[in-house]
Amino acid sequence: MACVSYPYEYDAPVSQTLFDRASLVTPGGVNSPVRAFRAVGGTPRFMVSGAGPYLTDADGREYVDLVCSWGPMILGHSHPEVIAAVQEAVARGTSFGTPGEGEVALAEEIVARIEPVEQVRLVSSGTEATMSAIRLARGFTGRAKIVKFAGCYHGHVDALLAAAGSGLATFALPDTPGVTGAQAGDTIVLPYNDIEAVRTAFAAHPGEIACVITEASPGNMGVVPPADGFNAGLKEVCAANGALYISDEVMTGFRTSRAGWYGIDGVAPDLMTFGKVMGGGFPAAAFGGRADVMAYLAPVGPVYQAGTLSGNPVATAAGLAQLRLLDDAAYAKVDAVSAEIQGLVTGALTKEGVAHRLQTAGNMFSVFFTDDAVRNYDDAKKQEAFRFTAFFHSMLASGVYLPPSAFESWFVSTAHDEQALARIADALPAAARAAAEATA
Ligand code: PLP
Repeated sequence: MACVSYPYEYDAPVSQTLFDRASLVTPGGVNSPVRAFRAVGGTPRFMVSGAGPYLTDADGREYVDLVCSWGPMILGHSHPEVIAAVQEAVARGTSFGTPGEGEVALAEEIVARIEPVEQVRLVSSGTEATMSAIRLARGFTGRAKIVKFAGCYHGHVDALLAAAGSGLATFALPDTPGVTGAQAGDTIVLPYNDIEAVRTAFAAHPGEIACVITEASPGNMGVVPPADGFNAGLKEVCAANGALYISDEVMTGFRTSRAGWYGIDGVAPDLMTFGKVMGGGFPAAAFGGRADVMAYLAPVGPVYQAGTLSGNPVATAAGLAQLRLLDDAAYAKVDAVSAEIQGLVTGALTKEGVAHRLQTAGNMFSVFFTDDAVRNYDDAKKQEAFRFTAFFHSMLASGVYLPPSAFESWFVSTAHDEQALARIADALPAAARAAAEATA
């Protein structure tokens, strides 16, 4: 998409200067592509601080944050109890390279919340979690092939970047240079929400598929929840064929309920992956599940997996503090905030006659600029994304920070109070008008 220039881009001179500096020493000026404004044009805002529902950029402008660090900040920014736990942990040292009690407590908290997780191994990123879960599934089953769904993102694991398979049981070609055919050749990419495609793939590859990995409820093509019975179908097909069902809850885990998406659909996976919320804003992630499968991991089993900073004491302190604050009341609050914002957004767009579809997965939601239901990645790509660009920039200019892409979930927190909601409500009419007037 062409870069769009908006006059208010020039309201961010300090961010622009930082971006210019960053672009000299870092590819594209960012350390993760989603942070760049490539899809919407303009200068990424460099943030200097966060408090509650707000972020403040280097130019001193405050934004209501509807990204929440792409999910982790479910209590808002700088929650005093999380900060206190971090400060207390930091004062005791930052890394020991030995086991520590914080890791045990965090693992116990995860196991207590999510019934199918009998054992858990901590890692530092969602990417590591899914990569390790796939390796474990292959080691456990002695099979090579894996099934993933187009539009589901599981981190930048080589084999999981293959997403462009067309049709049934197609062996995907690498989607990005640097991923070899060998690395992606055992990945079968199928259309999301198509259980028949999964059955057909298993029939075509008897005894060859180690696992099916799916986002528990996808948020990486925009929010596209599983159709009724889809996850249960995956579990059944996997069990019938001796493959493992891996539910990636890096995004939904501890966000959509106490027990993540599992807490909503109750379909028990063999393995699960977690990240984001469980780290409280620090690099902490995990994979876990059936004890007999986890027993294949080193040092008890033969499948090797390790990490210098895995279970880092500061990250585990932050994650544990955050999880302990996430009781039923907190989830009720996040759900209520989400519902209110959804109502405001859809009300404003409807008023301006903008075709849109608001899709939800618990308190995660996103807006597709289309009239039609979005059930998979192909549907998602049919939306009028140029309308999002105009909508995004208008919201930004009014002090509301949305994900800079039409294909991402929006995230809210317990800290989004009446004042923050009022700011969103004030920003929406102009943004809806901008979306209505946008042209491709
Ligand atoms: N899995 C899912 C569902 C995700 O949304 C993400 C990141 O957005 C990942 C895995 C990768 O996590 P990380 O960015 O921590 O490597």
